[in-house]
Amino acid sequence: MGKSSIFVTEPTMPEMQEYITEISDLWNSRQLTNSGRKHIELQQKLTEYLNVKNVSLFANGHLALEAAIQALKLSGEIITTPFTFASTTQAILRCGLKPVFCDIKSDDYTIDCNKIENYITENTSAIIPVHVFSNLCDVEKIQEIANKHKLKIIYDAAHSFGESYNGTSIGQFGDITMFSFHATKVFHTVEGGCLTFSDKKLVNILDEIKQFGQSSTSSLFAHLGTNAKMSEFHAAMGICNLRHLNDYITKRKNIVLKYRSRLTKKPGIHLSPIKKEIEYNYSYFPILFNTNEGGNIRDAVYTELAKNNIYAKKYFSPLTSDFKCCKKMNIKAFVPNARYISERILVLPCYPDLDLENIDTICDIILNT
Ligand SMILES: *Cc1c(COP(=O)(O)O)cnc(C)c1O
Repeated sequence: MGKSSIFVTEPTMPEMQEYITEISDLWNSRQLTNSGRKHIELQQKLTEYLNVKNVSLFANGHLALEAAIQALKLSGEIITTPFTFASTTQAILRCGLKPVFCDIKSDDYTIDCNKIENYITENTSAIIPVHVFSNLCDVEKIQEIANKHKLKIIYDAAHSFGESYNGTSIGQFGDITMFSFHATKVFHTVEGGCLTFSDKKLVNILDEIKQFGQSSTSSLFAHLGTNAKMSEFHAAMGICNLRHLNDYITKRKNIVLKYRSRLTKKPGIHLSPIKKEIEYNYSYFPILFNTNEGGNIRDAVYTELAKNNIYAKKYFSPLTSDFKCCKKMNIKAFVPNARYISERILVLPCYPDLDLENIDTICDIILNT
């Protein structure tokens, strides 16, 4: 094709000058990290944008997830899904807990609420469901189950920044919600992430965990902490990106609508349903080759796209339950839907600067393979 490569995603960038203006104060203040002015400003702006009570910023989403598990003092077993990025399962394991894998729904790939209760034992302390691509979990049913069994809920909302469910910000559900601000996400700070939550008591604990466990009010080290602070340069990138976010999401929406218009009626291809109660951020566009031989078709399409310098992604494959770290601990997973989907799914390029013409090229290849 002779054209430059198209990847599954491409980070958004503000105008260079906008970022330079944003960071120029730092040469005077010389406060480069440890909750400086940019950090405080981004935290306030995100509290408003996400319409939540509290936001705690982190160096990345993964450390935020580990901090959430620690702050809620979880123990024993956590019910989660294996159809996710490595981070969700690894955070549970690195905190010394056991992930218990529940299967996902075949239409939108989120946790199957009808199966959660089968996995609850006296050792279960929490559920960590994952909002997948831009599909949201059944937050109401999950809350009912958690109330009934006195379990905590931490949502992995790495894919779902800015989404809402029946008009309520997705950051308001569960005990804590984690958003990732990695460069490839809908909203980013290069590397970064945050936790949102209602319980004010968590503010200090989380501040301490991300700062080596040091108490914010004394010189004591009350927790076994880590270093998970967001720097001023990262916060400044977030302030810039947030200004343009609504425009980025509109562009993503147009891309997704164009894909859907070309692929919706194709037999053998399943697209996630559009639900009227969800306000989407259009973070990813997955298609499922929903036939017995779907895995072979998926692989053939992937290869054909790559020949044209278009790099789709087999995401999420493998399942995290197949990782060596789980096998070594003899952690079993009976997850037939997750396995079926993981073998047949392909995430197509979707980012604000993707040309609409390229979508035609991609769809032509899919429809002709
Ligand atoms: C990106 C991602 C994470 C981890 O976020 P980082 O900011 O990269 O640490 C966790 N879970 C899911 C589902 C993700 O996509």
